[in-house]
Amino acid sequence: MPRITLGLVAHDDKKADMAAFAATHAAILGALALVATGTTGARIMERCPGLQVTRLKSGPLGGDQQLGAMIAEGRLDALIFFIDPLSPHPHDVDVKALTRLAVVYDIPMALNRATAERLIRSLAG
Ligand code: PGA
Repeated sequence: MPRITLGLVAHDDKKADMAAFAATHAAILGALALVATGTTGARIMERCPGLQVTRLKSGPLGGDQQLGAMIAEGRLDALIFFIDPLSPHPHDVDVKALTRLAVVYDIPMALNRATAERLIRSLAG
């Protein structure tokens, strides 16, 4: 059976949360194919050296759009995106486009830790 592909993104103020989340759930994540925006992926691998993460471009340089394209092409099964709602982001339109496509294609998407905790359990083999 093909592995589930999970997208991981975190805004700057949420990257520490994402690294901690990945460390907590490393065993589950290790069984998935992981794809992340550039800096988020680097932080996850720094914290969890055992995890293999395919890194796309950094979010503001197109990484969110790359994840959106994967959704449109049926190559992303779920998305965890730790959004920082308290800071302005130059690539806000890209964030909106990505979350919109997750809704359009009806893939499971978690935008905060509480939902991510539930989603990740559902992805456990
Ligand atoms: P980054 O991108 O992981 O490269 O920082 C995330 C984002 O802000 O969209």
